[in-house]
Amino acid sequence: ISVSDLVDESFRRIGEVEDKVQAFLTLNEENARAKAKELDDKLAKEENDFGMLFGIPIGIKDNIVTKGLRTTCASKILYNFDPIYDATVMERLNEAGTITVGKLNMDEFAMGSSTENSGFRLTRNPWDLERVPGGSSGGSAAAVAAGEVPFALGSDTGGSIRQPAAFCGVVGLKPTYGRVSRFGLVAFASSLDQIGPITRTVEDNAYLLQVIAGLDPMDSTSANVEVPNYVAALTGDIKGLKIAVPKEYLGEGVAKEVRQSVLDALKVLEKLGAAWEEVSLPHSKYALATYYLLSSSEASANLARFDGVRYGYRADNAKNLIDMYKQTRSEGFGNEVKRRIMLGTFALSAGYYDAYYKKAQKVRTLIKQDFEKVFEKYDVIVGPTTPTPAFKIGEKTHDPLTMYANDILTIPVNLAGVPGISVPCGFVNGLPVGLQIIGKHFDESTIYRVAHAFE
Ligand code: GLN
Repeated sequence: ISVSDLVDESFRRIGEVEDKVQAFLTLNEENARAKAKELDDKLAKEENDFGMLFGIPIGIKDNIVTKGLRTTCASKILYNFDPIYDATVMERLNEAGTITVGKLNMDEFAMGSSTENSGFRLTRNPWDLERVPGGSSGGSAAAVAAGEVPFALGSDTGGSIRQPAAFCGVVGLKPTYGRVSRFGLVAFASSLDQIGPITRTVEDNAYLLQVIAGLDPMDSTSANVEVPNYVAALTGDIKGLKIAVPKEYLGEGVAKEVRQSVLDALKVLEKLGAAWEEVSLPHSKYALATYYLLSSSEASANLARFDGVRYGYRADNAKNLIDMYKQTRSEGFGNEVKRRIMLGTFALSAGYYDAYYKKAQKVRTLIKQDFEKVFEKYDVIVGPTTPTPAFKIGEKTHDPLTMYANDILTIPVNLAGVPGISVPCGFVNGLPVGLQIIGKHFDESTIYRVAHAFE
């Protein structure tokens, strides 16, 4: 099998299902085929500098900048933006030999849980086209689930990799904060954002993280911590492993069928030699409020750069500079993005800072300490990824708060900065359910070991 065969298969499948699924915003067909040919020539010459992901087709979430390839963040304000550089993860992928098939749909600037906030199109869940794929990395999860690409990158600020992975029945990991460089990831909430892999299997996921992880001088928050061999961690052995199950993660608000799937999964893990106990993460109930305050505050600052001057959309017919800013931003941003900018600007304004932002920072520390305490005694934390399986298109768009509530089980992980994965753990009424496995800082290896043994 040649690299061109792999790329052909990817575009063949895209041709077959993309009409319905609509996972992509931009296809990179010509370049992808050219690169495939280049790699096949290399194969023929038996050069031996093949990268770890040689010839693998990959889809990239549209908030990761790709040199010369349109990058919109699913926002009208960036409808014509062609970056002049590659994100660090893209450099590493290119080096490893992947082939970028295209850019994937998402909620505008990664704000959302259903991909319905995209400024351009509606992505559908391949398991049930009347349902959402989750979000914000809905395009990434849907493309992998539909077989359009075997690998994809997403980003996770409050659950945006794990939640769509759960809804689409694929594997998605949010790495430890600092594990993967954010250079070239268009910033939403810089203290929470992480890029991570979405794949069909845990092994694929480990290979993809292996390539993108590690220190990057271009991102001062990337960590100088050695990258272990993640694939070598997939031993299948979890004997003696200590699992904590937070009672807050199986309580009210979690659908009983989802709870049952998780309890069944725990039985499997027990059979494999692990033991579990109930614990508490008492500050979880403040996680949503804390997250929406902090993430919106950071977003209001990060999104100030979209002003119609430097790149992207610019309103015509403005009377003066201020008017141009106003018109550009009013016309360029969608409703959810505006809501967050207003919320964040309010929370950061003089006189309110102590009452909101500063207080939220303090609660964030308490949430982080909850996790630290549990990890003194346990190796991993296990629970559902989401309270329910994929919901219907349009079901939650009328009320931002019910949409936000969907992230209740993923958000604490971002606030604590620890890594978490979602792996499929069964079906409820034909819809996939995700099992969330959360690990200690920089201990993705243990998460992968457990996920792989369970899979
Ligand atoms: N759904 C959450 C939000 O809207 C998380 C988004 C994300 O992780 N990027 O903010």
